[in-house]
Amino acid sequence: MKACEYRQIPPGTPGALPSSSESPVPAASAGLPSSSSSSSGSASAPPPPPPPPPRPRRKWEVFPGRNRFYCGGRLMLARHSGVFLLTLGLIVVTSGLFFAFDCPFLARNLTLAIPIIAGILFFFVISSLLQTSFRDPGILPRATASEAADLEKWIDNLGTSTYRPPARTMEVVINKYMVKLKYCYTCKMFRPPRTSHCSVCDNCVERFDHHCPWVGNCVGKRNYRFFYAFILSLSFLTAFIFACVITHLALRSQGNDFLTVLKATPASVLELVICFFSVWSIFGLSGFHTYLVASNLTTNEDLKGAWSNKRGSEFANPYSHKSVLTNCCAVLCGPFYPSLIDRRGFIQADAGTPSTPKSEIPSFGTKSDASMTSALAVPPARLRSRVEKREVVRRPYAVSETKPFTS
Ligand SMILES: [Zn+2]
Ligand SMILES: [Zn+2]
Repeated sequence: MKACEYRQIPPGTPGALPSSSESPVPAASAGLPSSSSSSSGSASAPPPPPPPPPRPRRKWEVFPGRNRFYCGGRLMLARHSGVFLLTLGLIVVTSGLFFAFDCPFLARNLTLAIPIIAGILFFFVISSLLQTSFRDPGILPRATASEAADLEKWIDNLGTSTYRPPARTMEVVINKYMVKLKYCYTCKMFRPPRTSHCSVCDNCVERFDHHCPWVGNCVGKRNYRFFYAFILSLSFLTAFIFACVITHLALRSQGNDFLTVLKATPASVLELVICFFSVWSIFGLSGFHTYLVASNLTTNEDLKGAWSNKRGSEFANPYSHKSVLTNCCAVLCGPFYPSLIDRRGFIQADAGTPSTPKSEIPSFGTKSDASMTSALAVPPARLRSRVEKREVVRRPYAVSETKPFTS
């Protein structure tokens, strides 16, 4: 019987299936003689169509952090975005009331420049807010399983004794100051300098400043300048609307009862109340971040007192260029860094190849924290040779975090 299973039957031979050109050797004629005669009617039925190939999935669809993605992964936001909508609503409603109820009167009686200036400020505020909120703040992709296993093996091999707590910190020298790197148990890697894990978004973010619910996103390396532009332009817009509304009410109250004017312009009163209660906090925030920019500090570092002067000169801020102007240029006018999470990329079918862009980081050119990421994500054999405590030469703009790793 087994020999019959693979025997070819020439066409025209008695007993062969009638003109089965679409199925040359069907199972019915080869190995299932009992059903060949009885199911000859069903054999002529077309074979079931092959299942459609699985839809290629993009990386944002399986992103491990607590973020929401929109427009096919082009935009991202923190999971709880209600406060962000409140911020957007307050700005749009207050500005809208101002344009609708105050600007016509002021343009008629004072100058047309008022609505033009307000329009420019409003455009700056909204565009910088959206850039802050929907941008990748500088998320570091988590280590793949093989990278994490390699790093664990390397950490385990560090000690010589049989019982040893695993080394979960690493010290590097940055601008002659020792900086301690911590291991992130969620992302399975040593965090590069100035990187912190946001507990809200569940991501490690480079140059982490803070998680801002008002903008619905982390503020980090890739969106800090937009955040600073947002609070600065919002300060100007709030103060401008506040001053213009007071002028509007003062002009209307000339020769009229002030209370009657207030009753006649409820929209202006609402704008006045909103601006009055928000302008102080916005001004305070702008001043605080101006100090941070001038010192090349982050909110996270300032709150933790990481580089506080009280701790002595050996804990001075290693990232400061010792010049306010250079610090401002470095923070606000530095290069734009590419996103490392590649959220629009397709998931690789071969799970063995590293799909995260970490292996591509050295090609980015600019020596920065991102390059250190690559140093920490490479296999331990390379990592071991790179992590050496060496003196680092200070260079403007490229705060030499990566120097110890680029042997
Ligand atoms: Zn992390
Ligand atoms: Zn966050």
